[in-house]
Amino acid sequence: MRIARYTTDEDPTFGLVDGAGEKIAELAGDPLFTPISLTGNTVRVDEVRLLAPVIPRSKVIGIGKNYAEHAREMGGEAPAEPLMFLIPNTAVVGPDDPVVMPPQSSNVHYEGELAVVIGRMCKDLPVERVKDVIFGYTCADDVTARDLQRSDGQWSRAKGFDTFCPLGPWIETDLDTSGLSLVTRRDGEVVQDGTTADMIHDVAALISHASHAFTLLPGDVILTGTPAGVGPVEAGQRVEVEIEGIGTLGNPFVRRD
Ligand code: MG
Repeated sequence: MRIARYTTDEDPTFGLVDGAGEKIAELAGDPLFTPISLTGNTVRVDEVRLLAPVIPRSKVIGIGKNYAEHAREMGGEAPAEPLMFLIPNTAVVGPDDPVVMPPQSSNVHYEGELAVVIGRMCKDLPVERVKDVIFGYTCADDVTARDLQRSDGQWSRAKGFDTFCPLGPWIETDLDTSGLSLVTRRDGEVVQDGTTADMIHDVAALISHASHAFTLLPGDVILTGTPAGVGPVEAGQRVEVEIEGIGTLGNPFVRRD
């Protein structure tokens, strides 16, 4: 299933997106917490505003340097264990929402990533049970103020600004993530062309690892790291993250200073 969250200027609603990505069948309630139940209403995707498919109630967990080529372009080797950081849920925005580049940074980068949405509370989960707690997958842009990431020495501010965690366009619940194409475009130019097959720690290893530190709750999101090719974005440009089997997340970047 593809589960979208959207609005027609009323309260956010969830729905099932058809295979062509054109129509949405409305759901009663939030499918993270209530059984799938159709209301019988349908809308067209181009008639609604898609929202972030999930607003994490507790946390977004980021993973640093999970692709060897990206670790090298950042000037180091990948760490032996997954390197985790936290992003506040106030950073999450949806498809086509503007990413607002803050005046504190003059070097804002895109990072296209596969995001995992947790469906069940879990703790100390063995790798072989991870599939039981995954609700689905979506695209993410782990937007980073690269200059502040370096000068701060840790990453909370650099990756945690409001609007720095676009998610979408929807959640795909049935997906084999072992070898998905991941392409990032900046104003149409391909700037990252990777595959999830190049992750150092795969999805199951990352979720298990995170659960040994944090209790994971329904709606928590884990960003699985970015392939090589990160780079700067200027105000007025648009970044798209396309992942095979999910779809394309696109966001304009703006400055309001
Ligand atoms: Mg990242």
